Amino acid sequence: MKRYTIDEFRAEYPDNDACLHKLFELRFKGLVCPKCESVKEFTRVKNRRSYQCPNCGFQVYPTKDTVFEKTTTPLTYWFYAIFLQTTTRNGVAAKELERQLNICYKTALRMSHQIKLLMADKSIGKLEGIVQIDECYIGMNLKNLHRKQRAEMYENNESKFDNKTGVMGFISDDKKIKFEVIDGSKTFKQRVKNNVSKKATIVTDGHLGYSGLNLHHVKHEVVNHMANEFKRGNYHTNSIENCWSNLKRTIKGTHIHVSRKHLQKYVDEVAFRLMNRDRQDEMFDIILTHVVS
Ligand SMILES: [Zn+2]
Repeated sequence: MKRYTIDEFRAEYPDNDACLHKLFELRFKGLVCPKCESVKEFTRVKNRRSYQCPNCGFQVYPTKDTVFEKTTTPLTYWFYAIFLQTTTRNGVAAKELERQLNICYKTALRMSHQIKLLMADKSIGKLEGIVQIDECYIGMNLKNLHRKQRAEMYENNESKFDNKTGVMGFISDDKKIKFEVIDGSKTFKQRVKNNVSKKATIVTDGHLGYSGLNLHHVKHEVVNHMANEFKRGNYHTNSIENCWSNLKRTIKGTHIHVSRKHLQKYVDEVAFRLMNRDRQDEMFDIILTHVVS
């Protein structure tokens, strides 16, 4: 597998100007000036984060309306943080960003959350084909919690006795993956209907929350784990179960504590990583294209 290396990264993005130019190319390459309709290429305005039409001076701002617009953190830091996200097996923790970039923890955590938001692939519609569906429960490790985080949990009505959060997962046979944090707002069946095409064949275990879905979907295969059945013909839930071990490893291994409020970002990140694991060399660019879409 081809890998995007730190040497290639450094050569491509030696400074803030190079990062800004990448954003300019992603957003405005080949832009016809909206003011004077000139097709001449826009040029960089010195000491400003903008490019201008050489004919009439109309300016465009590559960071406008992006996560980079209002931040004082240099673009090189952001790009390096994204690079780290794509080259580490389970993603990079905020603590690690704090150390490597020598920034305060609050900034590091904010960057880390923003990058996760960028990783989320919002373009995936309802899954088609054969779709495995399952849920897993992530334990929030309360004893590692800082006093302040614990106080926050109580404020959000997260009881210390109820410290597991469910995630529902969907994986299609063409390897598209969606994870959804389970809150009280929807039933299992509603979540399935929202994420899976009517025309799909769905495969679940015997959980009662899934019963009745055969009325909605073309086919519903139930693998009865309770009766020690793990495969029914060609139908199984092994792929989604592999996703769970990945998800648990990432959350346990990299992040000391994930609060319920932020869990969706973390599971989106894991989904992104699983879907793109065979194209590590493209992950960096894919994330950047999400910046501007
Ligand atoms: Zn112009």
